[in-house]
Amino acid sequence: ILLLQESLNKDMQMQIIGSAHRESYLASITDGMTGLYNRRHMTQILKQVKPPYSVAMLDIDDFKEINDTYGHRFGDRIIRYIASNLVGHVRSSDYVFRYGGDEFVVIFPGCPPENAKTVVEKIAHLLKQHSLEYEDKTVPVTFSGGVYYVETPQDADIILDRVDNPLYKSKKEGKDRVAIFALDP
Ligand code: GH3
Ligand code: MG
Repeated sequence: ILLLQESLNKDMQMQIIGSAHRESYLASITDGMTGLYNRRHMTQILKQVKPPYSVAMLDIDDFKEINDTYGHRFGDRIIRYIASNLVGHVRSSDYVFRYGGDEFVVIFPGCPPENAKTVVEKIAHLLKQHSLEYEDKTVPVTFSGGVYYVETPQDADIILDRVDNPLYKSKKEGKDRVAIFALDP
């Protein structure tokens, strides 16, 4: 009986150690505020996902102004709201990351860029239809996006550089839109 008790206790101890490891691992790959995967994990996933896949980068429009007008806490709510909308409207095989302050990255394995763009535009549309409210006032939130199609294995740095290009174009051309990377003619 004593031996059995000892072995049970060891099992329980292992379970506790196991769950502590799991928790610290999860903490190391996620963003505390949104629960999304973090930037570090994105770099890992970019090394692992087999091309072809699309990468989308999104950046909230005029977010500084939103913070200044409604406060940082309301800004945080917007970040969490967009995060949950992204997770809720992509496939379970897609990956959603918080890339930085008001920036998100989505990886769409096996998905052509036009389809990734359509998904991101649909999420932008839903955000407009279901805006967050601040003291009975509807606060419109939009984001701009860029999409890059990874057809052959490439370094994360190059992928991020490429996807930043159409994002910059979307911002420059008036925001609230999504562009796909295209080589200059
Ligand atoms: P643009 O349309 O060009 O993107 O303009 P922007 O005002 O959104 O400018 P930018 O993307 O450069 O600025 C992002 C702002 O997001 C700056 C920073 O104060 C704010 N921010 C970053 N992280 C957080 C956060 O965790 N919470 C809140 N509330 N604000 C954040
Ligand atoms: Mg922004």
